[in-house]
Amino acid sequence: MPTIMKAVTFHKHGGPEKLIYEDVAIPQIGPDEMLVRVKACALNHLDIWIRQGIPSYTISLPHISGCDVSGVIDTVGSAYSGHLVPGQSVFVMPGISCGNCDECLIGKENRCAHFHILGAQRHGGYAEYVAVPAGNVLPLPANLTFEQAAAFPLVSVTAWHMVKTLADVQPGETVLVMGAGSGVGSMAIQMANLLGARVLSTVGAEDKKEKATMLGADAVINHSVENVWERVTALTHGHGVALLTPAGQAVEEPPRIGSS
Ligand SMILES: [Zn+2]
Repeated sequence: MPTIMKAVTFHKHGGPEKLIYEDVAIPQIGPDEMLVRVKACALNHLDIWIRQGIPSYTISLPHISGCDVSGVIDTVGSAYSGHLVPGQSVFVMPGISCGNCDECLIGKENRCAHFHILGAQRHGGYAEYVAVPAGNVLPLPANLTFEQAAAFPLVSVTAWHMVKTLADVQPGETVLVMGAGSGVGSMAIQMANLLGARVLSTVGAEDKKEKATMLGADAVINHSVENVWERVTALTHGHGVALLTPAGQAVEEPPRIGSS
């Protein structure tokens, strides 16, 4: 087993010019971790914020970004007793928590005092190998490529937290997803649709309408040429929507808009 791998790191915050392709040590895994050989890693906007130096994230440098990872299990930790095995294709849930505190045990892992995100407060997938908690490793469905599986994890947990955990969207409710073309937006449309809601969405260009409809939007508004609030009011006969999901940020209190 080699001890050195290639990785994209940065030693100082800043623009893309701070990224360095260099040799680093292959991470050592703990008993509850797995070493995953990376096959694909997305560029999430969080990766850019972390590189630039977003104040709400304190990280040590040099750092390896990459929140959304798929790959093949290389090694499993000594304490692992699950069904995943080396050589298996997997993808990684990027939200990492302790798994043992009161918040974790009631399913509120995002409130865990130790909650952190792969590629943000710990090294991510811009490398040949990444070490992750075994509980965050999921088998890759046979119908997904590595690239597809690396495209959606972080935007999906964000969208699910908004649409289901916070808003608990019910069948028959109307949801407005702002920005159908964004990662969070495209997932929120599919989730709200799956939950039986009527989904309205916005795009900034005509050629994005077809994709939004394909994802499950019942009506698509081009905000560059239409007045969103007027269209929402008309489409809901003056009632407004039950949930407005601003792409990229969770809502604590779903605002009601366009209500009469
Ligand atoms: Zn916890």
